[in-house]
Amino acid sequence: MDKYISSEGASHPRRSFLKSSGVLTAGLFLGGSLKAADSLQINTTNAAVPAILGGEPVRRAAWTKWPIWKPETDEQRVVDVIRSGIWSRAAMVTEFEKEWAAALGVKRSLAVVNGTNALVVALNQLHIRTGDEILVPPYTFIASITAVLSNGAMPVFVDIDPETYQMDPAKIEAKITPRTKAIMPVHILGLPCDMDRIMAIARKHNLVVIEDACQAHLAEYGGKKAGTIGNAGCFSFQNSKNLPIGEGGAIVSDDDALMDRCFSYQNYGYPYGTSVGVVGAGSSMQGTKVRLTEYQAAIGLSLLKRLDGETTTRNNNAAYLKSQLSGIPGVRPYKLYPKVTRAAFHLFPFRYDQQAFKGLPREEFLKALRAEGVPCSSGYTVLNNQLFLKDAFESKAYQNSYKKEQLDFDRYVADNKCPENEKLCKEAVWFTQNMLLGPKTDMDDIAAAIARIHKNAEKIKLAAKK
Ligand SMILES: *Cc1c(COP(=O)(O)O)cnc(C)c1O
Repeated sequence: MDKYISSEGASHPRRSFLKSSGVLTAGLFLGGSLKAADSLQINTTNAAVPAILGGEPVRRAAWTKWPIWKPETDEQRVVDVIRSGIWSRAAMVTEFEKEWAAALGVKRSLAVVNGTNALVVALNQLHIRTGDEILVPPYTFIASITAVLSNGAMPVFVDIDPETYQMDPAKIEAKITPRTKAIMPVHILGLPCDMDRIMAIARKHNLVVIEDACQAHLAEYGGKKAGTIGNAGCFSFQNSKNLPIGEGGAIVSDDDALMDRCFSYQNYGYPYGTSVGVVGAGSSMQGTKVRLTEYQAAIGLSLLKRLDGETTTRNNNAAYLKSQLSGIPGVRPYKLYPKVTRAAFHLFPFRYDQQAFKGLPREEFLKALRAEGVPCSSGYTVLNNQLFLKDAFESKAYQNSYKKEQLDFDRYVADNKCPENEKLCKEAVWFTQNMLLGPKTDMDDIAAAIARIHKNAEKIKLAAKK
């Protein structure tokens, strides 16, 4: 309780859920604060048969679609760009960068093709090179790690905090060697990392911090936006993300020199500010080309207008859903660090305890939940033993730059073992962010469906075995 916030100030009494869900029995809340009066409100008429066993699903209605596109407010800007014929990077991308920086309260922002390349460019221009070790979490999307490999560096995995699912600051220092150059906290699922402790360790050991905020748009830690606390922060605007453009990404930082270099690097190494179409500017540094287009920026500008409101809705619904789920045995939602003032909730996660569901395996639980009309997934699988790492180690570039024992894959896998992450990968259940954008009754449906499965877990397990 002292280390984490157990509930984000949700003030919704359990009673309202029981009234609206109509599927619970008092027995479900043995550990809770259910009073006799509450149990009288319970209607058990549709509690009998779970949908997977042929009953009526808790929900048939569609969930909030993603992305949300409102032609009346969103379209004109995009149409204007298309008709202008100015499609390569120009004023619209610059405007998007300004607006994104303003939304985050950071000095500079550079838009690029995607979040993966935002990380590649930021790492590169923070001078991460072959031989350097970068501390990364194992509970992340593969792009965090490939960005490290793309720069020839070595990912070193730091296990997660089992309550928050984020890189555990207590486990960082044991992984630091003379080769360590950077820490890459990933605000995974849109839940912020414990940045005070991470920054303190980075200062102590003179390490660079690159925040992977690709799932953490407008999340806040100590009143500061995720992505603006380290040396640089990286964002993704891929279709599923909370600010969707289809593809797109951004690097943000207060460091002008760094941002000038990043700009050059994403545009052939031409000097900062060089316009698209200028071919004789002369390059003094090696670069690549990962520019955003004008119509992508136009989509981003249109949707950015709704991001703040949507983020508030996700936070309110997540807090409410968390409070409803906390009464169901075997469902253990995420915790947030005390300094987290806002999360992004790119995903809503909880741990599923098979034992509390009569031994019903997670896969069968997910099937039963989908049958009730609630989309869900099991999330990430273990990342730090996958063959893409071995493939990188076997490349000429790595073979020429690292000692043989550093590239011994079995040894690497053993050294990078993250038991807490392995456990989480086996237990996690996710709901996607768009499910948190509907009315509160959508949250009631999720909780009711899970409660119904819990009540019928034995029957569902037996049916699954047949
Ligand atoms: C999506 C994502 C990325 C990569 O972003 P893209 O735009 O898809 O390239 C990187 N890190 C994390 C944590 C992500 O979720």
